Amino acid sequence: MSLKCLWELQELDLAIGVLVEKLEENPFHLEAREAAGNLEQIEQELNRAEQALREQQKKLRRGELDLETITAEHGELHQRLYSGETKNVKELEQMEVKLRSVKQKQLTLEDNLLGLMESMEKQEELIGDLAGRKDVAAAEMQKRQQLLDEELARLGGQLKKLEERRGLLVEQIEPKRLQLYRNISERYQGRGVARVINDICQGCRVFISSAQRGFLYDPQAVVYCENCGRLLVRFAGEESLPGPVE
Ligand SMILES: [Zn+2]
Repeated sequence: MSLKCLWELQELDLAIGVLVEKLEENPFHLEAREAAGNLEQIEQELNRAEQALREQQKKLRRGELDLETITAEHGELHQRLYSGETKNVKELEQMEVKLRSVKQKQLTLEDNLLGLMESMEKQEELIGDLAGRKDVAAAEMQKRQQLLDEELARLGGQLKKLEERRGLLVEQIEPKRLQLYRNISERYQGRGVARVINDICQGCRVFISSAQRGFLYDPQAVVYCENCGRLLVRFAGEESLPGPVE
């Protein structure tokens, strides 16, 4: 097995690295998170609005009970005042004053309750509006999540294929060559193997010496670039091809 397989291994490892990064830092992650955050915010608003409505409902029930009490009190006073059982003028005057005051309280309370009911209607409208927005946001989040899942499945499928190819390739490489690859790869951030095209090291773009050139015709020879130190690999019959972008 020539050193070419180390070049292929490096290509596979670089492609795997790109895919892993795409999986981890996928823009669909961000979009799905944003959609989830938006939904959460609307749900919180809706909860607050529903809580406020429940408070208003309690207030309304209390107010209705108060109104019943006051109405009964008013009725009783009214009846006593006009029943004729009290003849004392001063006492009758006091009862009239009291009756007016109770009537005023009754009217004020009725006004308050009407105002409360109006604001409850508005609150119910707000809740309806928020519930509608919540449905839209939930559908959006589901869509984003689905897109993310699909993208992750797609990239995951590609990654699996590359890893399978890598596994098959590694099986064919001698352990000492693998060790050589790992060492040089670590030293050059995953790009320790460089192709030689038209006598130029593609790692550093410098011409290789004529002495090294001779060694490179032996596919088994381990030759390092005198300039950058990368492991050189020469593919026969590709001399006139343009160099790949490293
Ligand atoms: Zn070089």
